[in-house]
Amino acid sequence: MTRYLPEPTKISKPFWDSCKAEAMEIQRCADCGTYAYYPVYVCPECASRQLEWTRVSGRGTVYTYTVAAQSVFEGIDGPIVVALIELEEGAMMTSNIKTNDPHGVHIGMPVRLAYEPVSDDITLPVFEVAS
Ligand SMILES: [Zn+2]
Repeated sequence: MTRYLPEPTKISKPFWDSCKAEAMEIQRCADCGTYAYYPVYVCPECASRQLEWTRVSGRGTVYTYTVAAQSVFEGIDGPIVVALIELEEGAMMTSNIKTNDPHGVHIGMPVRLAYEPVSDDITLPVFEVAS
């Protein structure tokens, strides 16, 4: 099976552009300070439309995860760690953790943002174990 890639939309294009630039930005509400991910039109906390694309630190922790023993996609070898990452800014992001020790991953583990270019247009945000 061919790997599916994201198709940026009007609302998500700034996010994908920032990943391509390896300087990931997510939206921050100018009214209440809440960080939002995935891209939204209104703040999930206070319904404000005053959302500003803001660079994140790249630091986070593993909120939860699973290890897929093998991939269904061509060219991607397992095992693969699929994780819900809690960014330092408070937003949650589903991603992969790139590690040679997938069974060493644990809840609460510090991780840091990395980038995986997968096409001319798309660079995926992934995470590595923070040292
Ligand atoms: Zn808000």
